[in-house]
Amino acid sequence: MKTFTELPLDPSLMRAIADLKYETPTPIQAQALPILLGPPTDFIGLAATGTGKTAAFGIPLLERIDPSLRKLQGLVLCPTRELAMQVSGQINLMGKHMGIRSLPIYGGAEYGSQIRGLKEGINVVVGTPGRLVDHLTKGGLKLGDLRALILDEADEMISMGFKEDLEAILKAMPRAGSNIWLFSATMSHDVRKVADTYLRHPALVQVNKKEMLSTTVDQLYYSTNESNKLEVLCKLIDVAEDFYGLIFCQTKSMVTDLTSFLTERGYKVDCLHGDKDQKSRERTMQSYRDRRVSILICTDVASRGLDVKDVTHVINYSLPRELDSYVHRIGRTARSGKPGFAMSLVSPNHRYLISRIEKMTKSRIREGKIPTSKDVFKKKIKKILAQFNSQKTFARAIEMMEDTWKTEIAQMTKEEIIGRFLMMSFPALFEEAKQTKPAGFGRDKEAFPRVQQRNSHRRGFRHGAHSNTHKRKKTPPYFDRSGFN
Ligand code: AMP
Repeated sequence: MKTFTELPLDPSLMRAIADLKYETPTPIQAQALPILLGPPTDFIGLAATGTGKTAAFGIPLLERIDPSLRKLQGLVLCPTRELAMQVSGQINLMGKHMGIRSLPIYGGAEYGSQIRGLKEGINVVVGTPGRLVDHLTKGGLKLGDLRALILDEADEMISMGFKEDLEAILKAMPRAGSNIWLFSATMSHDVRKVADTYLRHPALVQVNKKEMLSTTVDQLYYSTNESNKLEVLCKLIDVAEDFYGLIFCQTKSMVTDLTSFLTERGYKVDCLHGDKDQKSRERTMQSYRDRRVSILICTDVASRGLDVKDVTHVINYSLPRELDSYVHRIGRTARSGKPGFAMSLVSPNHRYLISRIEKMTKSRIREGKIPTSKDVFKKKIKKILAQFNSQKTFARAIEMMEDTWKTEIAQMTKEEIIGRFLMMSFPALFEEAKQTKPAGFGRDKEAFPRVQQRNSHRRGFRHGAHSNTHKRKKTPPYFDRSGFN
């Protein structure tokens, strides 16, 4: 199957797919659609996020729904609120010309509108297991007319502790006339058990790991000690053409510390982690999507299923503990054929993980060269030049200039004039350029020099645990606030 037009789809659905500008099916779509659009069957699809699996189950789900019947006919279970909102949004886009709507139902949001939506007889619900079980127990969620139940990211739902809720829903679902489609990045022992218990003769499609990785992602790793990671991270951000990226940390406290650190250095940063309430997560996502912030720092769980357009970089500040998370993380960039960078900061004792990831993904991760201070300097000067070139309103400045100015500069070359202005306006930049290594970094084991002082009581925050605060250097001049970060 090479194009969507080869499929026997409802014309309204085909129109919506064309609106979305999907032309060529992704590997999981090419393999799953002919099966799921055929005779009813249970199904297992092994594929990660970012591979186009929402449409792989969304298209056949919409084909099965009768919009004239005001009953719940499709139910999708997702591990996180973000993914539920996203999947629901995508089903709405695909179902818009068919008159089929989807309702996201997740914890942390008020019950009222969810209950009303369920009462109105919405056709599709996409939700998180915990809240769905609440509605099921209270009687608002009725599964009697379900045609398909989809488990999206089953491995994640189970590892996040939703196994019981998931099974409560599976048990409550009448099986005559309905199917279960299970999607998962991995076939863990628990996923296998759920599949064996609840699915009937499922068809199986597996997109191999290599296919899971975008072909346009450039994977690099940078060897660095723990104490140099911040310096390396800032350099990578600074030399990037137009950095719009995600940075992954292992723990919530590392996320908040790194966020404070980068904010103090003038970067436009926000963060996502499990402790944020729904409203503030939505605010964060909106400002990231609107590009009011260009860096989003997150934990794995908080970032599940994030679909943001044109992310240029994914940086693993630390490598994930679970190797599958690596695939999930870097799947946030290089989407829809666009280029993207996946960069991992790797300390010597974690270097072996790179070979493991390469083996697992059957892909190559190149060793990257850490940019020098001079590279960063040149990049910053280039950015100033771009701003310099974009100045259109300098006539007034010339008008205000007195004759003494003109006499003073008459003997100077153009380069000299610009050089003097640069030195005067950005002295910190030239100070930095003189140094090969920023002061304050790499002198002790500390990862987050100032922020650390406030958080040193936290358990689990290993960096700098033995540092001598009285020896701490001031913030390195490398992290200037000149506004050119
Ligand atoms: P998903 O894995 O479902 O989250 O999809 C990842 C991204 O790929 C989303 O932004 C989709 O809109 C996009 N996408 C899915 N299928 C296609 C396709 N056939 N062609 C182009 N983009 C697609």
